[in-house]
Amino acid sequence: MPMEDRGKTETIVQGISASQGIAYGQTFLYIQSDLEVPSYQVEPAKRVEEIARFDHAILITRQQIQKIMAEVDKNLGADEARIFDAHLLVLEDQALISETIREFETTGYNVETCFNRVSQRYIKAFSEIDDEYLRERAGDIRDVAQRVLQNLLGQTGQSLSQLVEKRVIVANDISPSDTAGIDSSQALAIVTDSGSKTSHAVIVARSMQVPAVVGVRDLTSQVKPGDWALVDGYEGIVILNPSEHTLFRYGKIQRRKKGFEQRLLEANRQPAVTLDGVAVTIRANIEKVDEVALVKEFLAEGVGLFRTEYLYLSANRIPSEQEQYVAYKSVVTALAPAPVVIRTLDLGGDKPMAGTAHLFPKEDNPFLGYRAIRFCLDHPDIFKDQLRAVLRASAHGLVHLMYPMISGREELARANAVLDECKAELTAKGIPFDKNLMVGSMIEIPSAAVTADLLAQDCDFFSIGTNDLIQYLLAIDRVNDRIAHLYEPTHPAVVRTLKNVIDQAHKQKIKVSVCGEMAGDAVYAPLLLGLGVDELSMTPPLVPAVKYLLRSMTMVDAKKLAQEALELNSAKDIYALCLRFYSERVKVE
Ligand code: PEP
Ligand code: MG
Repeated sequence: MPMEDRGKTETIVQGISASQGIAYGQTFLYIQSDLEVPSYQVEPAKRVEEIARFDHAILITRQQIQKIMAEVDKNLGADEARIFDAHLLVLEDQALISETIREFETTGYNVETCFNRVSQRYIKAFSEIDDEYLRERAGDIRDVAQRVLQNLLGQTGQSLSQLVEKRVIVANDISPSDTAGIDSSQALAIVTDSGSKTSHAVIVARSMQVPAVVGVRDLTSQVKPGDWALVDGYEGIVILNPSEHTLFRYGKIQRRKKGFEQRLLEANRQPAVTLDGVAVTIRANIEKVDEVALVKEFLAEGVGLFRTEYLYLSANRIPSEQEQYVAYKSVVTALAPAPVVIRTLDLGGDKPMAGTAHLFPKEDNPFLGYRAIRFCLDHPDIFKDQLRAVLRASAHGLVHLMYPMISGREELARANAVLDECKAELTAKGIPFDKNLMVGSMIEIPSAAVTADLLAQDCDFFSIGTNDLIQYLLAIDRVNDRIAHLYEPTHPAVVRTLKNVIDQAHKQKIKVSVCGEMAGDAVYAPLLLGLGVDELSMTPPLVPAVKYLLRSMTMVDAKKLAQEALELNSAKDIYALCLRFYSERVKVE
């Protein structure tokens, strides 16, 4: 810590441990706020002034974009900088500007309201055009419109892609699209006021191998520019301006943890087999194409969950069939002959796409709303583009297709009918795909879990999404830090539900995987295996710890553990049982 910061007092804040590791560095404060566009009538006497305000905002926006272009040109090169040409063109578009002024003259509403209405109309029109190049322009208009609105409202827009030095990100909230913009080599750690272990932003932090602590309440209001922070992702602790003594103590802890992690990595080269000789399949969860490198590094057996929505979130638009095909194909070919389970789009919930109010209107209960398969069945064109891309990729390796958020047999049948249409279209054009493509369903809604016997008749496999299943079963919003302590993976309702789903699947002779965060937690993995789960799928960096535990236990003991858990009647007791099972077998020292 520099001399001038020595006088600052140390402040210790307890949050929720979300991604392991220890980091220390200067903070980067990121405050996200919804852009609320106020709507009011402008007095006739002030109308000239109002138009001048609009002209000024356009001018400022142009200057800001030119400045970014110059920086990008300097840092990354001319080709990258040219991306912003399209943004400047939007600002030159006389139709957008004159229509805003016309809207203002006819309605008398403030220019923010008028500009917002007109730009939304343009975004909607462009995103529905049947031409890929023009459809992409919708994203440009959205970005520029956001900037113009921020300037009109006097708000400075902040983006995590502005992070160009190694920093500890301290944010009130981080959306999955924010995380998509983070340069992982610059993020030392992520700390958020809100959130819980299974929020999607945290899942991404885990795959970036960046320590994360969430649910620290109002930490952002305590952090001052230039503050230093020590983040302990193991214990969920954040220490602002730590003393020399604290830094020394943490140095020792970090060395011990690193030593243990090294042992895990060495053991990871061994097969995933229990002491009594039962082989367990461990696959990886990925969000981005380049995470294939992690799948290989951590020796996972293919991908058990490819969260394809990040292709959409990082592009901030709907990618074309061809773009998706290229992405899926590169993952599938890189990992063949190991399977890649591609999950169809799961946008909505805590993964809305920024600036697509026409596709994802604001909802009071997004997790109970327009999400995943519900959105896809309502937008067959978007859905079919993805299904055709997956089918085409299936010709290049071993692909399994999986639907998210299936609530029951009829919904599954509707999705499969769309898939059949896509297959027929490709067949008619002579385009190859795997005719035996396995199709499965996520089990993450209680109604699906209860009717697992019916769904199993129409599926080739199940993958249990414990993150959502627990949220819906216990009615605990998975991103709400206030009730995060009530989110209990060992609740008897969860254990019984898992047992039912696994038994029903096995009766129909189909396999069951778990791809929720429970699978990657070495404390819960034995319970899942003891209950009969066939495969575990997790963020690649978590594979070594789970494999290490597997190699230290017998399946006979895991089955006994599951049997005992089914007889207990409190989440605390079942958790204590799992923790004891784990600590008797794994010693960090
Ligand atoms: C889940 O719900 O457990 C799951 C794996 O899906 P996601 O976390 O993407 O909702
Ligand atoms: Mg889910």
